[in-house]
Amino acid sequence: MHAGGKQMREEPILVVRPSLPPLEEYIEELRPIWDSRWLTNAGPKSKQLAEQLKSHLKVDNVELFANGHLALELAISALGLKGEVITTPYTFASTTHAIVRSGLTPVFCDIKEDDYTIDVSKIESLITARTSAIIPVHVYGNVCDVAGIDAIARKHGLKVLYDAAHVFGVEVGGKGVGSFGDMSMFSFHATKVFNTVEGGAVTFGDPAYAAKFESLRQFGMDGQERVPLIGTNAKLTEVHAAMGICNLRHTDEQIAGRRRAVLRYRERLDGVRGIKLCKPAVGVKENYAYFPVVFDGYKLDRDEVLAKLNERGIYARKYFYPITSSFECYHGMFEIQETPVALRVSKRVLALPLYHDLAIEAVDEVCDTILGA
Ligand SMILES: *Cc1c(COP(=O)(O)O)cnc(C)c1O
Repeated sequence: MHAGGKQMREEPILVVRPSLPPLEEYIEELRPIWDSRWLTNAGPKSKQLAEQLKSHLKVDNVELFANGHLALELAISALGLKGEVITTPYTFASTTHAIVRSGLTPVFCDIKEDDYTIDVSKIESLITARTSAIIPVHVYGNVCDVAGIDAIARKHGLKVLYDAAHVFGVEVGGKGVGSFGDMSMFSFHATKVFNTVEGGAVTFGDPAYAAKFESLRQFGMDGQERVPLIGTNAKLTEVHAAMGICNLRHTDEQIAGRRRAVLRYRERLDGVRGIKLCKPAVGVKENYAYFPVVFDGYKLDRDEVLAKLNERGIYARKYFYPITSSFECYHGMFEIQETPVALRVSKRVLALPLYHDLAIEAVDEVCDTILGA
């Protein structure tokens, strides 16, 4: 195959590829589960993983859940949020759905042009007497303006719950990203930087929330006979926790692999007219979760670039598109023009293939195809 040729590659380059530990390592981790037959309900593996994540993520408290979405819904419940919450529509369906499914009204704030996180200068004008919280999203691994959000939340007595699904392992000034705000939700879905196949966590500062989460994810029960809360079933199983214990041993080296690919992308695409990349943030330990590119004034528009990549067997993703406020399930509920930056970016963005063992040659092929070499 020649660079610049039109042929389809034999093996497609997918946009993401889940990390798996060596199979033998996982089997070894499963052995004690087979011996004990303790399969779920806060067993030793999930306890061990929670402890390891507490130090890995540099946070005070971690509770594990069946997936990130349920973790987010239960965090909303544990915080006792009511009325309106300020959030962004430039995110995965989960963030907005969790808010609406909890009986709350999302009030959409626009995002910044440079890193696509919430535009803090636009939050205060959206606060009303009904506002109970801010639910910002650290998109692509980019960290929100946590200090700015904290100042507004304190001033108005609001809770802050971060959707931290994209920022596993990210640190700001040496602090774990999950230590900001009242709580942060992490997703351990197969496609994320760290996975337990399906799984999620909430990190938080106030230890009083731990017992509440234990109950909420186990049908609201407290022991076998008392049921003080209307909970759900959101437990992480022991076999999923075992996968997490194995994957966590390899996460740092995998992030290094992602970094190599990202540096190559930046080298090839930075400064090209009409192609906009996120700048590396100062003082932030990055996780290189995604590589979003915005085509604005480029010789091809986003959809043309995607079609060209697909022709070659390269799969990128319009991530995030469409914005959540324009989903058909929310038809007529929101004014999508109220977040013009989010709307504009969503129509121009493409997340390029990125995973820990993506070959540099593959990165070059993606770039060659985009640049039309
Ligand atoms: C993946 C993701 C979620 C949901 O997590 P799951 O573990 O898949 O339920 C929520 N928000 C964002 C931004 C995500 O990327």
